[in-house]
Amino acid sequence: MKFQCSSCGLRLESLHFKLPGLVNDRLASLCDICRQRGLDPAASPNPVVKLFAANLLYAFVGKDGEASGDFSLPDLKIRRSYEALMQDYDGNVLARQQLPRADFNQAVIKAEDDPSFFLPGKLPFAEKLQALGLSVDFQLNEVDYIDRERIRAKYKYRCQYCGRRGRSVDHKDPVSVSHDNSLDNLILSCSECNRIKSNMPYDLFVKLNEELQPLNKKLVKYENALGPLEKEFQDRRNMLAAKVHLKGVVNDPELAAIRKENKRLRDAIDSLESDYDAVRRLREDHFKLGWKLYLAQQDKEII
Ligand SMILES: [Zn+2]
Ligand SMILES: [Zn+2]
Repeated sequence: MKFQCSSCGLRLESLHFKLPGLVNDRLASLCDICRQRGLDPAASPNPVVKLFAANLLYAFVGKDGEASGDFSLPDLKIRRSYEALMQDYDGNVLARQQLPRADFNQAVIKAEDDPSFFLPGKLPFAEKLQALGLSVDFQLNEVDYIDRERIRAKYKYRCQYCGRRGRSVDHKDPVSVSHDNSLDNLILSCSECNRIKSNMPYDLFVKLNEELQPLNKKLVKYENALGPLEKEFQDRRNMLAAKVHLKGVVNDPELAAIRKENKRLRDAIDSLESDYDAVRRLREDHFKLGWKLYLAQQDKEII
């Protein structure tokens, strides 16, 4: 849910318009950046925020009337670049942990007031922070090489979630939440489980994964079957190439027969691979849905 600030004109998530109240939160006509500048939300109208506040039983901090549409950031391109920046910050746990919102807002205010300053929306977040004179350590989850090898050996190079081969040393609790690099918090996973798990809480991922044990067993079987088949196919191709080289002719009945046989093998491998991919997609969908449901239940407020 996004609102437009009636002073700067930025369209930002509703959290930027929330003011703590004695009992209930209130919704302000101005964004938190403009409020941090010292602008008084009670002196500005914002009919959209007012309407939402009334319907959602929040108090509205603002005055009645229509918004003028004159913004302190009149250039739409510039507004979009700040909106992208705020979105990057709001969505980044590491940034929010290491950089208090007030400090971040202060740097934004300084940039907004400098007419020569422009931040392209597509820049990586780390570079945007640098341009603002801020920095965040995004490498907190670095575990040194020796520890990674120890973990891999401990779990015999098997993903502890699905059982396939794995090399990703993964945090049970996402490091973005816990900052915990101790060995107890480290586990071995395959790149696929690691990617799917991402910032999901460990307990939730394990619970969803337990519901998938029969599917996981299938995945291991697919992996075990596909590896040797691929190798067999490569060997046959190499043999064919060697024979072509020896005979010095391309059109030869024996070579044609080998080609036909190789083609049959390739088709069978491709078909097995596509079955494998279908099972993998199904499994990933299960995790995605479980994560969405979890988040929807966590998020108690609709604004
Ligand atoms: Zn504003
Ligand atoms: Zn796995």
